[in-house]
Amino acid sequence: MLDPHPRRHRNAFDPAPYERELTGIIEKILAAPELDDRALDRIAKKHPKDGVGLFSRSEIIAGFRHFSARRSWNVEEADFVERLRMRPVRTQSGVTPVTVLTKPFPCPGSCIFCPNDVRMPKSYLASEPGAQRAEDNDFDPYLQTWNRIAAYRGIGHPVDKVELIILGGTWSFHPEPYQIWFVKRCFDAMNDFGEGVDRRMDAVAAPAAFGSVPGLDGRALGSGYNRVVREALADRNAGKLLHPSEAATWTELERAQRANEAATCRNVGLSIETRPDHVTPDEIQRIRRLGGTKVQLGLQSLSDRVLAMNRRGHDVATSRSALRLLRSAGFKVHAHWMPNLHGATPEADEQDFARLFDDPGFRPDELKIYPCSLVESAELMVHYERGEWRPYGADELLGVLKACLARTPAYCRVTRVIRDFSSGDIVTGNRVANLREVAEAALRREGRPCRDIRAREIRGGGFDPEGTRLADLEYETSTGSEVFLQWVTQGDELLGFLRLSLPRRDAPAPEELRDSAVIREVHIYGASLSLGRRAPGRVQHVGLGRQLIERACEIASAAGYSGLAVISAVGTRAYYRELGFREGALYQHRALTPAPRTPPPL
Ligand code: SF4
Repeated sequence: MLDPHPRRHRNAFDPAPYERELTGIIEKILAAPELDDRALDRIAKKHPKDGVGLFSRSEIIAGFRHFSARRSWNVEEADFVERLRMRPVRTQSGVTPVTVLTKPFPCPGSCIFCPNDVRMPKSYLASEPGAQRAEDNDFDPYLQTWNRIAAYRGIGHPVDKVELIILGGTWSFHPEPYQIWFVKRCFDAMNDFGEGVDRRMDAVAAPAAFGSVPGLDGRALGSGYNRVVREALADRNAGKLLHPSEAATWTELERAQRANEAATCRNVGLSIETRPDHVTPDEIQRIRRLGGTKVQLGLQSLSDRVLAMNRRGHDVATSRSALRLLRSAGFKVHAHWMPNLHGATPEADEQDFARLFDDPGFRPDELKIYPCSLVESAELMVHYERGEWRPYGADELLGVLKACLARTPAYCRVTRVIRDFSSGDIVTGNRVANLREVAEAALRREGRPCRDIRAREIRGGGFDPEGTRLADLEYETSTGSEVFLQWVTQGDELLGFLRLSLPRRDAPAPEELRDSAVIREVHIYGASLSLGRRAPGRVQHVGLGRQLIERACEIASAAGYSGLAVISAVGTRAYYRELGFREGALYQHRALTPAPRTPPPL
């Protein structure tokens, strides 16, 4: 039978026909006293693939995995991978990020800067690398997750701790059955992959609910996106936006989640992206039930005038309210903020950014800075052609970014400073891909280096335990106080941190969190090691996380709280149980002995 979706298997490599060559390579690698790139190259050339080509590292690792059971190599796969010097660059922050996209679907927003590529979920372009992977998998959550984990594993990354990042349009606008199904299928893929089970053909056999639509050139100006996508979906799904196969029940999801608690490939974080005006107490509860721990929230600007000029459809007060609700429910907030919007100026942007951290109503945990880029399908084209909007010049943009990075506090992680659009998609505006490096280098030369989390996190190397210290950074928020507890080295490198929320008694909070302090995040840096493995001198698994949690208990107890809750991911529940936390409805809890409260000064 012909493979109906050959693209999905284009990376598959079967080591079986190459036993002689691959075992020859592997045995020489194991026997080599030292192995560098040149030595590996020499070994590979002695055992060519099909008589002419060279085996890649991922193929050699696949060979090790395939043949090791029958050979007496006495070497763990992880140690073999380490020997091959496969440096896990993308997993240095301790977890393996797996990004998946929802299918093209109408969006309630009509933001003028937003691309309208009807082959993609709203705001994404088919040329973006992550979007291409999603399209290759027909936006199927199982295929996307399974194939991405397989790709990581193929190049030697540990995949036992997976952070799931769900992107695409406005998550909260998708019908609930689709949301449950989407997340369940991601969990199915993690569970199956860990067990060595491959059910990708089942997903392939299911009727494709979207996939690429022949005949569309990708452009649909303005609200045309919603119309075209609605029609395409209805056409494929008997007049409906969802195919009957794209639905699951809460019971089915919870079964998949429970299986993941003890799985080999566990989910240690789950984020979705949505708009501030869709953040409500009910929506927050739904995201939590899905297993969500983080929300990417499009703020874009803190100016009502700029929001209105860009037809965001919500105001700053709504953004403030969304952040308060999310924070009070223990979520991490990954904000998106855009300079150079229609109606903005470089000076106004610098002031806008300052408000993001000066005002306790905002102060996000993570931040994507997306300077507005003009793409052809965005409605902003009209304003550009009328001369009402122009992209900042290179120096203006660099100046704004420098000001932003210099002002970002130590508790925030700036994850991006530009959008991943290809230069061919950008009509006008910045095309410099490494703008962040340029801005950071300039700040260093000026003696005011960037101090955000990303600039300080340790990059998987060793550290001297003698020189480390635990430092508290406390700041006010709209719901109370926040303590950013951080392990730092003598050289101010960040080994790990914990976000502890100490809410005011009168702050709104879900019933389950009343009178509780809340751990919103625990993160230990270092190359992502397999659970249970130790590497001398590396950061993870040396008890830093436990010590952070014990310190959080002391702080919360001293502040008079009778309980400490944690917004745990599904795959970290077992870890917290070991530390004395017990299951609640949506959070885990540990009882505290509250210290008597000091009365406030008269
Ligand atoms: S809400 Fe987001 S995805 Fe929707 S139009 Fe606005 S920017 Fe685009």
